[in-house]
Amino acid sequence: MTLGEIPGQAVATGLLIRALAAGRLPHALLFQGAEGTGKADAALALAAAIQCEAGGPDACGACGPCLKVRKNLHPDVLRVTRLPKRETAAPAGEPEEDEAEEDADGKDLRRVITVDQIREMAEHASFAPREGRARVFVIDPADRMNVAAQNALLKTLEEPPGGATIVLVSSRPHALLPTVRSRCLAVRFRTMTSSDLASLLVARGMGPEEARERAALAEGRPRIALALDRDAQDARRARREEILLAIEAAASGRPEDLARLPSLAASCAGESEESFLEALDLAGALLRDASRLAVGSPVSALVHADLAGRIGALGERLGRSRAADLVRCVERMRDDLGLNLSRSLLAEALLASVAGAPLPF
Ligand SMILES: [Zn+2]
Repeated sequence: MTLGEIPGQAVATGLLIRALAAGRLPHALLFQGAEGTGKADAALALAAAIQCEAGGPDACGACGPCLKVRKNLHPDVLRVTRLPKRETAAPAGEPEEDEAEEDADGKDLRRVITVDQIREMAEHASFAPREGRARVFVIDPADRMNVAAQNALLKTLEEPPGGATIVLVSSRPHALLPTVRSRCLAVRFRTMTSSDLASLLVARGMGPEEARERAALAEGRPRIALALDRDAQDARRARREEILLAIEAAASGRPEDLARLPSLAASCAGESEESFLEALDLAGALLRDASRLAVGSPVSALVHADLAGRIGALGERLGRSRAADLVRCVERMRDDLGLNLSRSLLAEALLASVAGAPLPF
């Protein structure tokens, strides 16, 4: 995939292509945005554009270096990621804080990217490129670097040797040290509106009805929309219903509903950080839709257009300024997850604000 082919990210990829054309690509970049918006694909496409022999600013997608990058065989493009747990011992001095986690392929992965991996990367960066024009390092997910690893990265980020380019990929940039973030150019990857994403899916051969439903359930994230199977769609629909019902109960102001807020909050927050992030993303998207309808935006501008009736009623009840305040509150809550506050308490505080209590953030 070339930069120009990343769906729905014309702003982000346009910025990169113009920087490449002008020979002014920064040496340290942070690709940030929700899971499934195409950040990792874009990092690989940028690596291909840097190595491509065809001479354009964007990769041609067909020359030898482009194909090598795509097949993960280019010796000057290195991806630094969480290692499989069983193949690596815990490095000395680093506690096994980490329970193994399963990734999509079911492999046990170490929880963190370690300082040794970053030191090894810095050493690679100090060598001249083997066959390409410059070395490219993609750290993904960058927010899984522990503090020692992030500190070890600082010097390399400041002056990457030999014109190397370092791309940090993260859907949780709040977990990066401010000193790391400030050394990178942030490139933001956005979710698409559902109608844009649905059009994209239809252009790829999907029926219009399925395309609309998938686009809403994937919240404008192309990669997720393409990967949703029937079970995953049902699960996401059920989760969305759970979150919307909790918000509706809080907004209703009925005493019997308000009494249920603690238990609704606990169940919305879920058992893991991932499930809490999912709940926050859903709550944010639903409240953003409510605030859009409250200011008179058309239904086609919504992420969850299929729920326009209920979301419109919610927007009316909350009013435009409160809905907008709540959206900002959810975003700040997402950014401050690193604080280790109790997730169900945070969820309860959020629902209480929907019910009219002062905003917790
Ligand atoms: Zn090429």
